This record gives sequence, structure tokens and C-alpha cells, in this order.
Amino acid sequence: MNKIYLLLGSNAGNREVLLQEAVKQIADNCGEIVVESSIYETAAWGMENQEAFLNKVLQLDTRLLAEVLLKKLQAIEDNLGRQREVLWGPRTLDIDILFYNSDVISLPDLKVPHPFLQKRRFTLVPMAEIAPTMVHPVLHKTIAELLEECTDTLEVAKWS
Ligand code: ATP
Ligand code: CA
Ligand code: CA
Repeated sequence: MNKIYLLLGSNAGNREVLLQEAVKQIADNCGEIVVESSIYETAAWGMENQEAFLNKVLQLDTRLLAEVLLKKLQAIEDNLGRQREVLWGPRTLDIDILFYNSDVISLPDLKVPHPFLQKRRFTLVPMAEIAPTMVHPVLHKTIAELLEECTDTLEVAKWS
């Protein structure tokens, strides 16, 4: 069994319903959801003049290989109306693989651990809620330490 952390994000449409539906489709198609963080409302990162996001992190147990998991997650994004237009632009649903066990994966279409996770409070805050002691396999620091050191100042507020 493989232990995965996923980040879900939505900033277009009915954000809460989209996150709920994504959780359901992940459970139906990808494995067993073991832990869910709270939902956080977070100011958009990278391209800031757009609606705020709702974000949450899930811990998933799965037998799927990383690339197969990515394809299934992309199919779920598509099912929930994802249009692929602008990088970091508005989206109904985004699902990123943050960690796959402690594996380091560097394929053209899949980088794990997610390369920006240590730069983003919207990722570190929900990760720190459910896995503060997890050690990043490349940076060799815990999630709590990465959050402490993160210089991102965009607001991340618990939403529900
Ligand atoms: P960011 O990765 O900075 O959060 P994004 O989520 O907006 O940006 P997308 O447009 O959703 O980027 O995805 C672009 C591509 O990123 C996908 O087609 C996918 O192949 C690739 N990718 C690389 N690493 C990962 C990962 N760890 N999880 C999900 N997608 C990844
Ligand atoms: Ca993303
Ligand atoms: Ca993505």
C-alpha cells in the first residue's frame, strides 16, 4: 500500500460542493481516504487578482502507481469541469500530488514531492494540521519546520 498526500483546490463555481464531489470521486476511484484536513480559504497565489480558493489536504492509501494515480486525478478534474487555459488561473478543481510515500519522482509530467509545496502557506497549513511531523524526503525538514520557515504572506484562514 502507498501513502499519498493530495492537495485539492477550487476557486470557481460552487467551491465547497466541488471539493466534496472530488473527495467522493477520489474515494470511489483511487483508494481509501484515511485523513482529511479542514477546509481553508486562501488568497490566490501566483496570479493574485482572482477569486479566493478553498483548499484541503487528504491522506490517501492506494495501490495505484504514481503515474496511474495522476491520470485518474486528471480525469476527476475533467469530470468536474476543469478547463485548462491559464497556468495558475481560475479553476473549478485542481488536484496536486504532494507526496507519494517518501519517493522522489522527476518525470516530465510528474514531479513529487510537489516542487512548490514549501513555498505555499495554502499547502503547508492544511498539511501541518494532519501531518506536522512528516519529513520532506528532499529538504529533510518536517512540515512544521517548513511552515515555520515559509515566507509566503498570503492569508490562509480556516473555513470549515
Ligand atoms: P502548480 O503545479 O504550480 O500547482 P497547477 O496545479 O496550476 O500548478 P496544472 O495546470 O494543474 O498546474 O498542471 C500542469 C501539469 O503539472 C499537469 O499536466 C501535470 O502533468 C503536472 N504535474 C507535475 N507534477 C505534478 C504533481 N505532483 N501533481 C499534479 N500534477 C503534476
Ligand atoms: Ca496546483
Ligand atoms: Ca495541478
